[in-house]
Amino acid sequence: MKPFEYKFSEKLDEILDILSKFGPEAKILAGGTDLLIELRRKPAKFPKAIVDISYVKELDGIYENDNHIILKPLSTHTQIYKSNVLRRKAYLLSEAASQIGSLQIRNRGTVGGNIMNAAACADTVPPLIALNAEITLQSINDARILPLNDFFIKPYKTKANPDEVLTEIKFSALPENAKSVFIKLGRRNALSISRLSVAAVLQQDDSGKILDARLVPGAALPTWRRVTEAEEILIGEKPSMELFRAAGAKVSEVMISYTGRRWSTEYKEPVISALVRRALEKCVMT
Ligand SMILES: Cc1cc2nc3c(=O)[nH]c(=O)nc-3n(C[C@H](O)[C@H](O)[C@H](O)COP(=O)(O)OP(=O)(O)OC[C@H]3O[C@@H](n4cnc5c(N)ncnc54)[C@H](O)[C@@H]3O)c2cc1C
Repeated sequence: MKPFEYKFSEKLDEILDILSKFGPEAKILAGGTDLLIELRRKPAKFPKAIVDISYVKELDGIYENDNHIILKPLSTHTQIYKSNVLRRKAYLLSEAASQIGSLQIRNRGTVGGNIMNAAACADTVPPLIALNAEITLQSINDARILPLNDFFIKPYKTKANPDEVLTEIKFSALPENAKSVFIKLGRRNALSISRLSVAAVLQQDDSGKILDARLVPGAALPTWRRVTEAEEILIGEKPSMELFRAAGAKVSEVMISYTGRRWSTEYKEPVISALVRRALEKCVMT
């Protein structure tokens, strides 16, 4: 291990100041469940400074404001799935958080780290994109707000600069009659990284017709996005098996249009389609 400086502060402006001085030579540490593993695997990449943000209280907490939810980046997966506000107003996100890693990982890992690490299998990202979340990135002289679906370049690569801290995640609460689910398929039941996942939101009007539909597959496309091509099939229709099957098939088709046919397509094509169908069925049945 190369020698490095360990920096921390309870104040965000001091953290931003440290980051501005070290630039790309610094690495932010939140829960450390991704970063420490990465540094152990690639010791040559050890930064000059590790900047621990975990003591900054203003970066922690879950708040509701005027029908908007504000999620601070240090919120752990345990805090997220135990939050009553999120359970009522963004159920798919608490469901995703409850399925992450193990109890220890959920107690330590943060939503900010999950987003910023940008692994294709990051479980909080598909729900947050389905919630049309926006994020705030702050540096010493500037703050910018980006839609989350415009933040990722490719797996492990985002539009954030090295001196920027993710300080806030914001989205509108789901309407009371909207149903939402997150389904994840892993290699095993416990401590499993997503092979494929789906975040879905479905809202019906009084006659039963679908008013709003949002579908975001995880670990399927090069970066996450709502599959509007499949959502459009659903809007204005009444739920049925054929309809949900058609939406699932469309998500598969869109996935293959990006990835082409490769060795894993034989598995992923029917599976993502079935996951979408199952997610939509679950929305209607709960
Ligand atoms: C055994 C195991 C099982 C796991 N299972 C899952 C799983 O099922 N699903 C899943 O999605 N993930 C899983 N993970 C991955 C990991 O736990 C999560 O991604 C976690 O949310 C990362 O958060 P963290 O606070 O630990 O991030 P850290 O490791 O502290 O940081 C991760 C990255 O984000 C950057 N960063 C962190 N916070 C900020 C911020 N506020 N602003 C700017 N940059 C920031 C860091 O510099 C680093 O590059 C697992 C990990 C392990 C070790």
